Amino acid sequence: MLLTDGLFLDHRRCERRAFLNLYKSHSEQDPERGFLLKLRQESVNHLAYVLEHFYPHAIQPTSKHQDFYLRSVETETLMKEGLDCIHNGALLFEEPSRGVTLLGNPHLLIKTAGKSRFGDWAYFPINIQLGRRPKPEYKLIASFHAYLLTKVQGSRADYAQMILRRHNLYTVYLTDWMPRLEKALAQCLTLLLVSSEPEVFISRQRCSLCHWYSHCYTVAQAEQHLSLVPGVTPSRYQSLQSLGISTLASLADASPSLLNPVLGFETVSGLQLQAQSILEKRALIKSNYFHPQLITAPWEFYFDIEAEPELDVEYLLGVLLINTKTKEQRYYALFAEQPEQEALIWSEFLEIINQFPTAPIFHYSEYEVETIKKLAHRYLTPTCLLESLLNRFVDLHYQVTHSVIMPVESYSLKSLGNWLGFYWRDPGISGDQCVCWYDNWLKTGERSFIDSILRYNEDDCQATYRLKQWLLEFLTAVKN
Ligand code: SF4
Repeated sequence: MLLTDGLFLDHRRCERRAFLNLYKSHSEQDPERGFLLKLRQESVNHLAYVLEHFYPHAIQPTSKHQDFYLRSVETETLMKEGLDCIHNGALLFEEPSRGVTLLGNPHLLIKTAGKSRFGDWAYFPINIQLGRRPKPEYKLIASFHAYLLTKVQGSRADYAQMILRRHNLYTVYLTDWMPRLEKALAQCLTLLLVSSEPEVFISRQRCSLCHWYSHCYTVAQAEQHLSLVPGVTPSRYQSLQSLGISTLASLADASPSLLNPVLGFETVSGLQLQAQSILEKRALIKSNYFHPQLITAPWEFYFDIEAEPELDVEYLLGVLLINTKTKEQRYYALFAEQPEQEALIWSEFLEIINQFPTAPIFHYSEYEVETIKKLAHRYLTPTCLLESLLNRFVDLHYQVTHSVIMPVESYSLKSLGNWLGFYWRDPGISGDQCVCWYDNWLKTGERSFIDSILRYNEDDCQATYRLKQWLLEFLTAVKN
């Protein structure tokens, strides 16, 4: 079996992902998402920048990456010649006792003082990463490269380095990391050599960008897997399994006296209500919490923001104004065609909002409030104005998650909106996709990208409106 650094990294992120990459046909993967392509391009740009500015003389082997045997021989030849800096070399090591060949491609191999089988010099590896922080998985891959280098050059590489997003250098010392690497490598090989498929576990944060998402989600749905129940984390899942709870029905029906000592009263009552709600396909009351502004006001705003984090710009402030008596609606798309127009759309936003000074501003997540504070600070908005504005904000996510349990797999606006029968005009689109569209607009000037963003944002505002109407009706009915 060939274990590459990429496969090893996949295993660190999700065992199942590494397994599927190795044993399933790639035709079953989801198509590459625009947001991932954008991240990959940023990574390529970052690598190119670092090479051009800091290692312009780096030499790389000429054979193709797929011809890794040839490339590894070429890399060794360059090391024997004593080149100062080798870019994209291939480090190959066969371990017949374990039945594996290990392959790593560090971005750089740097010549340093020392002794190796090549002469009075040795090498250490450097990886160039887009992340801001030296994540543990980066450190493990750096250690993997140092491990392979030790085998190839016949002398111990004591450390590896990383160059991170702000071109800061981070050193990984092998005395700390080698034991962790050996343990992780053994776990990875055990799983992949035994070839038994790891259980699915849908974790929104980890799975949302994975190319096996549709495949895994179909499996999880067919199994009615407990990871689809909001609140069931991997550690809670393990606890439930140890108590013999593996289905929705058994979770809903279990005796709290069995679950409470392991998971705690509050968690148990939340999880059981959630399971019950999904089984019965209906919303359940959690608490009679009523935000004081959860009323029907004569005028109401529904607000949603789109941002480009890389450029640190809030480029769209989308505002839906509703006259609740006549049901008349107006959508304002305050769009910064260039990032520098952020100040302009901020002042337009204040102007519109202040025309209806008593209208509550409904939104779905803390992000809107945090962003408003940031923009007010950035553009020197008087504190009294900011405070009166914030008093009008009503976070429906907070209200929903504190007062009701809904038969959904997540409390995202999409998930709740769909349950309420609201459908986005462009299904399957997320905020990530809008970031790509905005970048494409900036690059190409094609207005169709703006149109797609505005459609998405307006639908988000409309879904927030639908949710607020439903929530108010539901809570009022329960109260009465
Ligand atoms: S979708 Fe999730 S569970 Fe499936 S392989 Fe990807 S990360 Fe793992």
